Amino acid sequence: MWASPSSCLSGPVAWGRERGTVREGACRPEASCVPQPRGTAGPGGDRTGRSPEISLGRFIAVRDIGRVRYFDHNATHPLSAAARESWLDAVDRFPANPSSPHRWGARASAAVEEAREQLGGWLGCRPQDLVWTSGATEANNAILHHLGTATHGTVLISAVEHPSVWSPARRWLDGRTETIPVRVSGVVDLDWIDARVRRGGVTAMVVMAANNETGVIQPWRALQELCHASEIRFVCDAAQWLGRLPAEGLGASDLLTASAHKFGGPQGVGVMKCPVGFRPLLVGGLQEEGRRAGTVNVAGILSMVAALEERGARVASPSGDSAEALPVRASWRDQFVEALKDAVPGVRVLGESVPRLWNTVAVIMPEAGDCRRRWVARLDKLGFAVSTGSACSSGREQPSPVLAAMGCRSDESDRMLRISAGWDTSGEDWTALLSAIRQTATEFGVAVDRQ
Ligand code: PLP
Repeated sequence: MWASPSSCLSGPVAWGRERGTVREGACRPEASCVPQPRGTAGPGGDRTGRSPEISLGRFIAVRDIGRVRYFDHNATHPLSAAARESWLDAVDRFPANPSSPHRWGARASAAVEEAREQLGGWLGCRPQDLVWTSGATEANNAILHHLGTATHGTVLISAVEHPSVWSPARRWLDGRTETIPVRVSGVVDLDWIDARVRRGGVTAMVVMAANNETGVIQPWRALQELCHASEIRFVCDAAQWLGRLPAEGLGASDLLTASAHKFGGPQGVGVMKCPVGFRPLLVGGLQEEGRRAGTVNVAGILSMVAALEERGARVASPSGDSAEALPVRASWRDQFVEALKDAVPGVRVLGESVPRLWNTVAVIMPEAGDCRRRWVARLDKLGFAVSTGSACSSGREQPSPVLAAMGCRSDESDRMLRISAGWDTSGEDWTALLSAIRQTATEFGVAVDRQ
């Protein structure tokens, strides 16, 4: 199963007991986002390469679901072919615990250290400053825990950070945080930041590289510089950036987090950059030089680095085919947006006036007499996997703080659709999605243009 278990894709539909059936569920917020069992769908295949259930790529055939055009990569990017191969290879070649004293342990440890070197090179930081984690949620928790327990002073946190930043901030930094406001575009207010930094007393600033709901890109390079000049620690959540845009420079952040499953690596593995003297969240073992206790996920780490390496020729460095490939992909997204605005009057694209990830569109759909999940459910039935944003993780629907910070009313927030493509999504996929939305809009009685 490659969709994020907390993705809203599981919300609007009730997965039928019989294989291949999906029926639209009632739009009940309290029940709809609880992940439902999906039968026995899984990565499938075996080491001989037989993989009848899932074929990786823009069209994904998954047992029990059928063919789907997948537009939910910001929730989880399906495991890439290179990552899958690397994972299978690693579990065979490195079965031992990398902390063990024998030669099999040493081999596993050497492989993990090689991966650390590689990643440090791409990010532009010392490999020994990187610590493996179970993902970006753990990494963000660990960093906020460190700031809360090992530093003094005010921590500035942008209003649009992921809940895995805000929740630990509330727990460990009670009374020590100030919220960086964003403009209507979703970009942090640089004038506010400038004025606040001048007033002094700031110890750290937390601003993500790109937003998971809107794709809006933050000026993290400029903020890095400002922070370094002002002796403020700069913390960057790069979960949605890494593997999509060039990684160079991210490693200059004082603290950094990222997650493998956002770019084709496996779920449950990630990385953070953290300094010497980091106060660990997880204790009970001396792994990672005491900065994160627990046996590292050897196969997950090697698979994550393989996924990034595969992507590397395209986006981890600005050379290679990325120079052409990124603008082309962005243009497909832009053409979709223009056509959508013509086709369904009243739609509003969030962050439209500012740089966004090439793969993401967050759009407020017109009122259709029902909540947003009707759109998701109907599109799901038509074979398109889109999402409603990030509000589903608790199993309960809440207005998105990100959209609220951008000035959206809660009824608008309820009508938000998040569409996030992957590297293999084609222009034709975007066109097909547009047709499906047009069809859905007609069914919902929302005015549709006549082309
Ligand atoms: N930060 C951002 C910006 C994210 O988009 C996500 C996942 O949606 C996370 C953190 C959490 O990542 P993980 O799923 O690895 O815990």
